[in-house]
Amino acid sequence: MRRIFALALVAPVVVIAQEPSLRAGGPLPVARVPTIAIHGGTGTITRQSLSLEMERQYRDAMARALKAGMAELDAGKSSVDAVVSAVKVMEDDPLFNAGKGAVFTNEGRNELDAAVMDGRTGLAGAVAGVTTIKNPVLAARAVMERTSHVMLAGPGAEKFAAAQKLEIVDPSYFFTPRRWEQLERAKKGGRIELDNDDKAAKKSSFLEMDSKYGTVGAVAVDRDGNLAAATSTGGLTNKLYGRIGDSPIIGAGTYADNRTMAASGTGTGEFFMRGLIAYDIAARMKYLNLPLAEAINATLKEALEGKKGRGGIIAIDHDATVRYGFNTEGMYRGWLRKGGEPVIEIFR
Ligand code: ASP
Repeated sequence: MRRIFALALVAPVVVIAQEPSLRAGGPLPVARVPTIAIHGGTGTITRQSLSLEMERQYRDAMARALKAGMAELDAGKSSVDAVVSAVKVMEDDPLFNAGKGAVFTNEGRNELDAAVMDGRTGLAGAVAGVTTIKNPVLAARAVMERTSHVMLAGPGAEKFAAAQKLEIVDPSYFFTPRRWEQLERAKKGGRIELDNDDKAAKKSSFLEMDSKYGTVGAVAVDRDGNLAAATSTGGLTNKLYGRIGDSPIIGAGTYADNRTMAASGTGTGEFFMRGLIAYDIAARMKYLNLPLAEAINATLKEALEGKKGRGGIIAIDHDATVRYGFNTEGMYRGWLRKGGEPVIEIFR
């Protein structure tokens, strides 16, 4: 009895939820109702840790991102257009750990990763460790559409982005005092304890120095029923030089396949890479015929629980059903269905 109780205490709870309005039945088929869902990161996000003013800013920014994505879908454009537009809005907003406002490496640099995947064609593009591309998600898309490769890294990716006439900025463009202070705190303390009751997570390493993961991501289905996913990040505060996270790794933090689902993750990237979390969810749907929610639950349990891995994922299936899961205190998340209003949630 005692043992079961202890397990319940240390095991992170995986929260699975579904978008209520999509769950409701009705005369309209759910399939092919253009829908977009986004996340703005996960972590120790509690009502106590987030001021009302900050909460308002996050909600406004996420609504803007959802509307930017929906504007593409409304215009009859593809799910790739939608996820790229939504992610770009969040890259430009210093609130999020992507593009401007990205976190710093141990050396005080901003090294950015991003990926896009098209569930219709199975093509994907990514950039990793870039320091001068204003919108890494646009570069990822260009890799997908204008090269025969999947990922370009570092100076090569930057040279390619410049040749594609994408906007190149001085690395100082990405600087924000908030993220610099985060780095200084992380360096001074060696680590920052997570202010929650998750005992497993308190035994921290450099991977958990900051208790918030502000990566951004989007998934969408367009009117033709095609799925896409995009993710963009500055990675983890105080990460080592050259460290690449899960976001640009296809199948880890980003994945889309019309036959199953599109997903974008956020959290301790190393766990998403080891567990190939995004692909693992798709594989459970493909080979085990699991519905999306069950696939997410099973994958997150296996890949994160009991391993100090923290994070979450948002996903959409070919029926335009939005599902998400996370084992942290909160995840910035939202969705918007054609003709509807943005729904935004933050806390557990
Ligand atoms: N998953 C990202 C990474 O490990 C971090 C995040 O989600 O904020 O690079």
